[in-house]
Amino acid sequence: MESEEQTVRIAKAIKDAGAHILRGGAYKPRSSPYSFQGLGRKGLQILEVARQETGLPVVSEVLDVRDLDAVYQYVDILQIGTRNMQNFSLLKEVGRMDKPVLLKRGVAATIDEWLFAAEYILSAGNPQVILCERGIRGFDQHTRYLTDLGAVAVVRGLSHLPVIVDPSHGTGRREIVAPLARASIAVGAQGVMIEVHDRPHEALCDAQQAVSPKEFKQIVTDLKKLSQPLNVKFSSAPKSSAKKSMRSVSRTVSYAKNSHPAWT
Ligand code: PEP
Ligand code: MN
Repeated sequence: MESEEQTVRIAKAIKDAGAHILRGGAYKPRSSPYSFQGLGRKGLQILEVARQETGLPVVSEVLDVRDLDAVYQYVDILQIGTRNMQNFSLLKEVGRMDKPVLLKRGVAATIDEWLFAAEYILSAGNPQVILCERGIRGFDQHTRYLTDLGAVAVVRGLSHLPVIVDPSHGTGRREIVAPLARASIAVGAQGVMIEVHDRPHEALCDAQQAVSPKEFKQIVTDLKKLSQPLNVKFSSAPKSSAKKSMRSVSRTVSYAKNSHPAWT
């Protein structure tokens, strides 16, 4: 989120295009300390406006335990980013919350490490975890990360938790976000998270991976079409709060409870 005007404008566009949830970054983990760091609490207030204007549930990243109370107040879903997937004290804290947690896979995390991270949240008492494959570190420079769709299929078999894919960070390239989004659904992902910007030349962050609202709309149309032959249920937008729609994910643990990682 760069400003209220920009956030609300794009939020309305993605709602019209068929988005179910709005993700906006307020506390941004950036590789360089000199890059745009997000608007912090001001960003959360902007997200609140966008939430009211569109009726969309919202998700935002919590970067630090010290920001948790503030983020909690404003969001329907708490995001844990790739860099914090093994921040165990943060995982335990969001595990004490009564809001769903979107847990992104660590950039170099094995599937077991990712599921153990989920387990930290579940075992602390919060059953509402959504896993997000966002690409792992590969060796090829043609994509930003290596979108591990095999892991999505594996995790669908190992865990009852919903899994979504972030093809924006996974590829870093807007022109291949659409095919990777289609592939994600085909391999069993239950959703995708896609970065959208209507004026990429003005974007303060990750401009190369943002698709336009028009491209986003086309992706939604294609995924809806694809869901039919794949026999995938394309759910309608959650009405009130995301909390309610995520409640169905209330079965407790899980894959790892009776197993231990080979290396702890
Ligand atoms: C993001 O979702 O904007 C983000 C920073 O993601 P990740 O933690 O996957 O890099
Ligand atoms: Mn980003």
